[in-house]
Amino acid sequence: MRRPLVMGNWKMHGTRGSVRRLLKEIAVAGESQAAEVVVCPAFVHLQQALNLCEGTAVSVGAQDCSHMTAGAFTGEVSAEMLLDLGCRWVILGHSERRQYHGESDDLVAAKLAAALQARLLPVVCVGETQEEREAGEAEYVVSRQLRGALEAQAGLQQVVVAYEPVWAIGTGLTATPAEAQDMHAFIRAQLGEIAGADPDAMRVLYGGSVKAANAAELFGQPDIDGALVGGASLDANEFRQIVAAAGGPQ
Ligand code: PEP
Repeated sequence: MRRPLVMGNWKMHGTRGSVRRLLKEIAVAGESQAAEVVVCPAFVHLQQALNLCEGTAVSVGAQDCSHMTAGAFTGEVSAEMLLDLGCRWVILGHSERRQYHGESDDLVAAKLAAALQARLLPVVCVGETQEEREAGEAEYVVSRQLRGALEAQAGLQQVVVAYEPVWAIGTGLTATPAEAQDMHAFIRAQLGEIAGADPDAMRVLYGGSVKAANAAELFGQPDIDGALVGGASLDANEFRQIVAAAGGPQ
C-alpha cells in the first residue's frame, strides 16, 4: 500500500510573513492526514518553515541541492547541509531547473546520488514538453530522464518520481486523468526495469496545474500516488483541499 504524498513547491515565492501565514493554516499541531504532506519553500525560508512545522505532521523539503558534498562552490547548498538543518526531502530535476539552469540528466543523476548519500528523500521530476508530446516522443523523453537519473544508483526504494508534463506546469492545462494514468503506468513499468527498484512500492506523483477542482479525479487513478503542486500550494485553502482529496484527515 503506497501512502499518498502531497508536496507544495513554493518556488521563488514568499516572505517571512507569508510563510508564517501559510504554515499557520497548513501545519496544524494535532492534525494528521491520510496523505503525507511536505512543503518546499525557498532556501532562505527553510529554517523558519522547519520551526513552524515542528510538532506537526507536515515535513519540509528543499527545491534543489548541489551535486557536490562540500567545497568552493559559491551559491550552492549541499544535501548534507539540508539534512543537518532538519530537511527530509529534496526536489531534483524540476523542469524549471532543466530549462533555466541547463540541468542535464547527468547532473540530475549526480544530485540524486548526493541526496541519497545524505539520506534525504529525493523527488525526481520528469516530463516532456509540448513539442515532444506532439512529436510522439513523450515516453522516450520520460524514459531517458528516468534512466539517466536512476540507473546505477543504490537505495532507489526511497526515491519518489514526479511526472510533470512541462506543458502543464503553471499553464492551467492539466493532463487528463487518463493521459496522466497512462504515463504513470509507463513510469512504473520503467522503474521495474531499473535494477534495484520494486516499482509497486515506489510513489509516482503527478504535477502540472493540480488544484482542488481536479485533484480527486487525478488521485482516483491507480498509478497516481499524490501530487507535486506549484501555484495552488501557495493558497492554504486550495492546498488543504488537495491534501483532503488525497485521503482526508485520519
Ligand atoms: C510545479 O512547479 O512543480 C508545478 C506542478 O507547478 P503548477 O502546479 O503551478 O503547475
